[in-house]
Amino acid sequence: RVASDSIYVTKEDIQPFYKRRKKFGHKGVFGHALILGGSYGKIGAVQLAAKATLRSGCGLLSLYVPHCGYSILQTAVPEAMLITDEQENLISSFPDIAPYQAIGLGVGMGTEEKTKGAFREFLTAAPLIPLVLDADALNVLAQEPDLLELIPPRSILTPHPKELKRIIGTWDNDWEKIEKTKQLAARYKLCILIKGANTAIVLADGRVYFNSTGNVGMATGGSGDALTGVLTALLGQGYSTEEAAVMGVYLHGRAADIAVAEIGVYSLLPSDTIQFLSQAFLELE
Ligand code: AMP
Ligand code: MG
Repeated sequence: RVASDSIYVTKEDIQPFYKRRKKFGHKGVFGHALILGGSYGKIGAVQLAAKATLRSGCGLLSLYVPHCGYSILQTAVPEAMLITDEQENLISSFPDIAPYQAIGLGVGMGTEEKTKGAFREFLTAAPLIPLVLDADALNVLAQEPDLLELIPPRSILTPHPKELKRIIGTWDNDWEKIEKTKQLAARYKLCILIKGANTAIVLADGRVYFNSTGNVGMATGGSGDALTGVLTALLGQGYSTEEAAVMGVYLHGRAADIAVAEIGVYSLLPSDTIQFLSQAFLELE
């Protein structure tokens, strides 16, 4: 059963609010995005999110990672500026967020006590900036649900079903899964995705979009990290939460659909999807 107030997202839904670039645009007007995450052995998650943010049009990109990510990211993502934590292998504090228009937070971040403490301190300071909360940021929210109250307006949560389950508990069927997610979205005024085939985009006002793009080739670790980057870039460029969520999920899936025609579902990698974001964006021009 599908909610009656649901919309199946196709290109026609995105096209009306897609922003064509103006001739005199410069990097100062396309948003300064920050990706914060990574821990020892999971710097790759930040690399994927970073590349996807850059391929989705952000003007400037900064990354905040543990010190162990320094050489890797300066080499792999030369377009990004890097700020490192004082800790070698984990994040123990958050940076000053004044320069940024959007933050993608949680990929590969881990859930060490020091990291959780820093995340709590960050949210307690009531940052007025839209966040994309993914992966370990969601796992921290599941462990410390009082933090849900502190999430800034316009933020997007991007759980896959397992992460969602940790936050809202189990469900018996798809209808119940969506109803419980709607309740969470309404209570905390959040946009919440339920990632998977036909990702659901649940809005705070009870509307639900279902995405039409994407394929099973995306079932490889790192796919979601790329989506976090796409969403962060779009929020940073001034798309509304609803626009960024719908457009980001659509384009991420569309890029994978274009890529898979060449690469196939067995071999598709998240980094291929990121490469093909260019063609997904081109279709909107
Ligand atoms: P994550 O589990 O965080 O890596 O996120 C997985 C990403 O791949 C999400 O964007 C999902 O929507 C997408 N994905 C995974 N499996 C499928 C599938 N069978 N069909 C379409 N998209 C998928
Ligand atoms: Mg993930």
